[in-house]
Amino acid sequence: MLPEAGSLWLLRLLRDLQLAQFYRPILEELNVTRPEHFDFVRAEDLDGIGMGRPAQRRLAEALKRHRSGLKSKNWVYKILGGFASGQKETTPPSDSLPSLPEPDGRLKCLIPDRAVCRGELLGSGCFGMVHRGLWTLPSGQTVPVAVKSLRVGPEGPEGTELEDFLREVSVMMNLEHPHVLRLHGLVLGQPLQMVMELAPLGSLHARLTAPAPTPPLALALLCLFLRQVAGAMAYLGARGLVHRDLATRNLLLASPRTIKVADFGLVRPLGGARGRYIMGGPRRIPFAWCAPESLRHGAFSSASDVWMYGVTLWEMFAGGEEPWAGVPPYLILQRLEKDRARLPRPPLCSRALYTLALRCWAYHPADRPTFSDLEGLLQEAWPPEGRCVREVMEPGALRMEPGDPITIIEGSPDSTTWKGQNGRTFKVGSFAASAVTLVDLPATRPILRGTPARGERHQRNADGHPVGAPGASKATIPSGGPLSDPELQRRVMEVELSVHGVTYQECQAALRATGGDVVSAIRNLKVEQLFYLSSWSRADCRRILERYQWDLSAASRYVLARP
Ligand code: AMP
Repeated sequence: MLPEAGSLWLLRLLRDLQLAQFYRPILEELNVTRPEHFDFVRAEDLDGIGMGRPAQRRLAEALKRHRSGLKSKNWVYKILGGFASGQKETTPPSDSLPSLPEPDGRLKCLIPDRAVCRGELLGSGCFGMVHRGLWTLPSGQTVPVAVKSLRVGPEGPEGTELEDFLREVSVMMNLEHPHVLRLHGLVLGQPLQMVMELAPLGSLHARLTAPAPTPPLALALLCLFLRQVAGAMAYLGARGLVHRDLATRNLLLASPRTIKVADFGLVRPLGGARGRYIMGGPRRIPFAWCAPESLRHGAFSSASDVWMYGVTLWEMFAGGEEPWAGVPPYLILQRLEKDRARLPRPPLCSRALYTLALRCWAYHPADRPTFSDLEGLLQEAWPPEGRCVREVMEPGALRMEPGDPITIIEGSPDSTTWKGQNGRTFKVGSFAASAVTLVDLPATRPILRGTPARGERHQRNADGHPVGAPGASKATIPSGGPLSDPELQRRVMEVELSVHGVTYQECQAALRATGGDVVSAIRNLKVEQLFYLSSWSRADCRRILERYQWDLSAASRYVLARP
């Protein structure tokens, strides 16, 4: 084996540890040629080349000793080394639980310049340009990616931009969640480039404001996005991170029904026992999205992220309008504090969802719900779904044909006119309540929140049956036939009540997959929930759940403590 001149240090170090067999894989598969490159190598990467955990610990110790004698001259490492070591979570201790899995397709953090080719411009942010790209893996396989390059001025990169860019890298490299944009790796070239998962459909804000003939988004889909974002934000919060820039411009569409939280340039760790981050100096700050304590004291926390979530919800239902448009930034705080003003309810937002936004805008951070609360609250505020039972063509009414899915925005049990969105045409309007029958599962979803917002009165459906009474609603499976079998309905409900955060449709699908076996359906859904929460494989999630007697909360706490 002939070592490259520049990597002799690595061979020596590995030989001393009797790990010389890993020299080539570390060099060629992980692209590590300098000690500082190990900042970007994760335990999973070393697992992937077959290095056991005890050997990894020996290597980490030796690297620490090796590097304590070296002083990096490179500005990149000076900055990123600091962040990475502060941010990086410790390797989970290797006890008897499953060894850390290598999720399929896990990619390495350092990417050679020649492996990435850049194409069309996707957008530009505060750090520089984002291009569509194609990344060629060592196997020859190509992966579509987005490449964010750091803007470099004539004097080199700007201090704070460089810091934020590198901070974004060091934060993202430790995150793995289905609704958090994934970082594939970093190209240590000129310019410095972040290689990220491509969100081919662009930002949610661009989609919300797309001109005709692009149809508006279905309200039910917006609710789904809200739930996905709440899950991602709960995940960030559990990792002690505050995003500080949650807005529709930073939500990217990976597919028509999948949103990802992106742009981690402003993310900060929550410091101290009070779980707050206090901003050090003047920085860019998205005023109209900020909580009062952020505007007044520069204080950010998970609760201020919740405030921003409320503003993001508002943007979604206001068609991407700018919050507090026309109000000068210095007056926003006064409007919030002195006038106790809040953004008005957008016409497409149901009262229940607006009430949820108002809770996010509670003045005192402690009075706001947490992101975990929000996942449940959203479920309660979910607009009821109906199906058209007769043609409506009257002038001024929302047009609909039998079978059209209708999302109800407003409709009190006592009123004969409701307001909703036709899921086929995406048009919104009023219609006779008798034209629609509800298809939601009444026992688990409070429906028809007219006034006041949270279902306190006994509700009736379009036929006048009390909701919740047997046969009150004709539940249907959107993708299949009617759910007529009461026994199946009972089982769906049992599954839904046993697994926190799953939808009615997910329960139906799980039951179908298990041939109606409730226990297996519950277990499979719990495995999925845990899988999405963590970076463990499904098989490992199952083992962890078994160990915790299928207690999802206990298993979740376990995986969150050992990412
Ligand atoms: P940023 O610098 O993160 O604010 O990104 C600037 C713009 O580039 C965004 O508003 C998006 O339109 C686009 N963009 C950023 N990241 C991606 C991505 N991963 N996939 C697709 N488009 C992206």
